[in-house]
Amino acid sequence: MQPFEYVRATDVRHAVTAAATGPAAAFLAGGTTQVDLMKDGVLAPGVLIDITRLPLRGVAASGGMLRVGALTTMEELAADPVIAERLPMVRESLLLAASPQLRNMATIGGNLLQRTRCRYYRDLSCACNKRAPGAGCDALKGHHRMHAILGTSEHCIATHASDLAVALTALDAIVHVRCPDGERAVPLTGFYRMPGDTPGVENALGPGELITSVEVPLLPEGTRSGYLKVRDRASYEFALASAAVAVRVSDGVVRDARVALGGLATIPWRSRAAEDVLRGAAAGEQSYAAAADAALAGARPRPGNAFKVELGKRTIVRALSLVAGAPG
Ligand code: SF4
Repeated sequence: MQPFEYVRATDVRHAVTAAATGPAAAFLAGGTTQVDLMKDGVLAPGVLIDITRLPLRGVAASGGMLRVGALTTMEELAADPVIAERLPMVRESLLLAASPQLRNMATIGGNLLQRTRCRYYRDLSCACNKRAPGAGCDALKGHHRMHAILGTSEHCIATHASDLAVALTALDAIVHVRCPDGERAVPLTGFYRMPGDTPGVENALGPGELITSVEVPLLPEGTRSGYLKVRDRASYEFALASAAVAVRVSDGVVRDARVALGGLATIPWRSRAAEDVLRGAAAGEQSYAAAADAALAGARPRPGNAFKVELGKRTIVRALSLVAGAPG
């Protein structure tokens, strides 16, 4: 591990100021990914700013909205009664994301910022444009079974790793950010950046900016939601494909729908195309299959992950059938 300066932040302003002025600063919260990557030499911040004692923890409901402090742990959010009752897709995404030990350490802010699991990113002997801009991408002609088929570029095909971010993207959550010169709010649907020519730029955060909370709108009464994750083994594994869906059905017709995908794209992937197909359609597998076709229409698979097109479609159909119920 590279030597670094350790700073314990006394308040949010201190944390942000220290991060904005320090050389290649990084924040430390749960540390479940950050520390591993520092040990492996993938990340080498000059200053590590410990934010674990800042008052950014807790969940509060008000006015049809949940405000989740960035230092709330995954386990705390999963256990929140409002989440369990009104937003099951969030609870399921958290419980399927990690072991209880990790959920007790990992924070919501850190989860949204977790780094890709691309094996080449984490191996310093491999070429990786995300880790070293301009170096190339060994995944393109390498082992890319787990990699993305949506939102890719010729410079990077890594998937985004967060399950929670998929559910929150479907819900139009808003990220609140403290900046060196104030505060701002960023819709999660516009927070993540596709790799394009700059795979190293993953989100809308600027230098020194800190996520302080996430605002999550509650779904309207009568809306059912769920998160389906398909993976190689039943626990402690990342998604090959996942779907966060919410639907409101009455008289056999889908009145409203939300669809977001994980494990298939370079960012948590909101599929407006699928939602447009579903809205006003008869609830049932035929409509769900049409929505799935629309969601994957722009897929650009590579030889090693072509199976993800069909898998992604089946995951969407299955998730919608489970949540909305297939007609008898
Ligand atoms: Fe790096 Fe992206 Fe290529 Fe993986 S897919 S090696 S993260 S550039």
